[in-house]
Amino acid sequence: GEGAAVASLGELLVEFVCTEKDGHNRRATAYVGPFPSGAPGIFIDQAARVGARAIFAGAVGSDAFGTVLTDRLGAVGVSDALIRVVDGVPTGSAFVAYNSDGSRDFVFNIAHSAAARLPGAGEAIAAFIAHGTGVFHISGSSLGDAAMRETALAVARGLAEAGVAISFDPNIRKELLGDPGYFAAVAALTALSTYVLPSEEDAAVLFPGEAFEAYADRLIAAGAESVVLKRGAAGCLGRDRAGATVERPAHRVEVVDPTGAGDCFCATYVGLRTLGLPFAASVARANAAGALAVGRLGPMEGNSDRPALERLLEPGS
Ligand code: ATP
Ligand code: MG
Repeated sequence: GEGAAVASLGELLVEFVCTEKDGHNRRATAYVGPFPSGAPGIFIDQAARVGARAIFAGAVGSDAFGTVLTDRLGAVGVSDALIRVVDGVPTGSAFVAYNSDGSRDFVFNIAHSAAARLPGAGEAIAAFIAHGTGVFHISGSSLGDAAMRETALAVARGLAEAGVAISFDPNIRKELLGDPGYFAAVAALTALSTYVLPSEEDAAVLFPGEAFEAYADRLIAAGAESVVLKRGAAGCLGRDRAGATVERPAHRVEVVDPTGAGDCFCATYVGLRTLGLPFAASVARANAAGALAVGRLGPMEGNSDRPALERLLEPGS
């Protein structure tokens, strides 16, 4: 990669995917894994794949699962200057089981694992700036744990003050909305961000009853550069400061494993903007990356490089 770097921070996890539907993580059956995962991990892998320089702050245990993560991020060239290997606690993990109605059940091991042992905010800010970070991305999935939330907010605020653009994927977890600290963090990061990248579910919680153009223009008037709405099998809708609205239908693909499509979409968009691609071209490639992501088993196994995205797009996109 070249140019300004893309940075992120948060939970690094290995993920196991249940091979049967409607098992709810309660049935003894076959799981596939360990896959490298964690929403911010999926994001930084894809940012590196599209050609951005990438750096990540997080932690793994000194065990085989930690190696799955450090090997993967190393293979795509993510800087490991801020990836800690912590003794005495296991690498974070997630077990996902899909249901016939499209919903998912998760069992997470984050708070009591290495995943939550992030480097300190001051150390992360200094290292991100030294690495030439132009954009810092946060996934709302990192805001459930109180310690990670404080670090994420402090790093976002410190970097914003230093002129770094902030990117935010709310990834809202409804079960956390009763926690006032969680919702305050989501609101603060939304307000601080240059790139706001909600899903339909996020938008329904954050901007209830409001049309896309209305809340996008409100966020842009308050300082955002662009807002892009991820709409699953309906594609995406984006609006930028110049007043351009871009709508992309989804590419038609077979859905094998939808987990991670949103993170992959965000990383493609942010990575390509950082590399200087225009708004509409970046949205088109993010939409293509999301489609490729759902076609592969494993949360970041469907991440893809630039040539694969270009092959999916019609000429002139
Ligand atoms: P996540 O589960 O990772 O949080 P999300 O809800 O943030 O996902 P989605 O809207 O599900 O994000 O997916 C992100 C993007 O991926 C979509 O905007 C679209 O471009 C692409 N995508 C998702 N699902 C499909 C699909 N079934 N077919 C084609 N493209 C898809
Ligand atoms: Mg999401």
